[in-house]
Amino acid sequence: MEQQFTQALSIAGSDSGGGAGMQADLKTIQERHVFATTVLVAVTAQNTLGVDDFVALDPKIIDEQFAALANDLQIKACKTGMLADVTRVKTVVKNLKQYDFGPLTVDPVMIAKGGAPLLSEDAVAVVRNELLPLATVATPNLPEAEKLADMTIHNEEDMIVVAKKLQEIGVKNVMVKGGHFVSDDQSSDFVLLEDGQSFWLSASRVDTVRTHGTGDTLSACITAELAKGQTVEAAIRTGKQFVDATIRDGIIVGHGHGPLNHWA
Ligand code: PLP
Repeated sequence: MEQQFTQALSIAGSDSGGGAGMQADLKTIQERHVFATTVLVAVTAQNTLGVDDFVALDPKIIDEQFAALANDLQIKACKTGMLADVTRVKTVVKNLKQYDFGPLTVDPVMIAKGGAPLLSEDAVAVVRNELLPLATVATPNLPEAEKLADMTIHNEEDMIVVAKKLQEIGVKNVMVKGGHFVSDDQSSDFVLLEDGQSFWLSASRVDTVRTHGTGDTLSACITAELAKGQTVEAAIRTGKQFVDATIRDGIIVGHGHGPLNHWA
């Protein structure tokens, strides 16, 4: 049989502004030389100024997208992004249990940088109880980690505690993104691996508004690297370096929270 080109899957929402969501995933996976496939869960009307509205897709067409992929493609790794609400989280969980799309990276998207909710409040518990236990990697930012672990994070010690709590929930490897600590001139992420090893990933803070789509780009890069067969640690380290480069060398698109520079 002919060798298949490496394929990865993004299960996410569309950002019409092109900077985040499914669009960021597609660009990132392509840039990592992996073929990107998609299950679209929701469609946002959005630009760099914010999210105006969104609709979540009918669970039937979500099921059908999963089935179509499973019936033909050979997907080696997958990720979730914006999942909108309880119905869509449950639909995605059901399909991830039914089919094997390789290691799952969960980016537990909750609120856009402009403040728009991308996941309903009542869906947080479903993400915690049903989706996280399926995850090989989870990449929460601080507010997301706080909600999922039901604790407040004051300092770097708390980031270690929250990572352990998320591992107890069932996530194998946790990357807690510390970018929301506003006082720091460093952006430090804490990584806790399945075997108990842990490390910090630091980068000097960049003073920019062009950070739209950082979480999506990071988790998509990790997914692409896992699809290639990289170890979780290598995939996370590559993801961090990749996002750091796209933030540092900004491009001007729109008038608000601009997108990353994917040519950096
Ligand atoms: N829109 C969609 C569809 C997303 O999935 C995300 C993040 O995952 C965002 C917007 C928000 O991106 P950011 O918070 O980086 O602005």
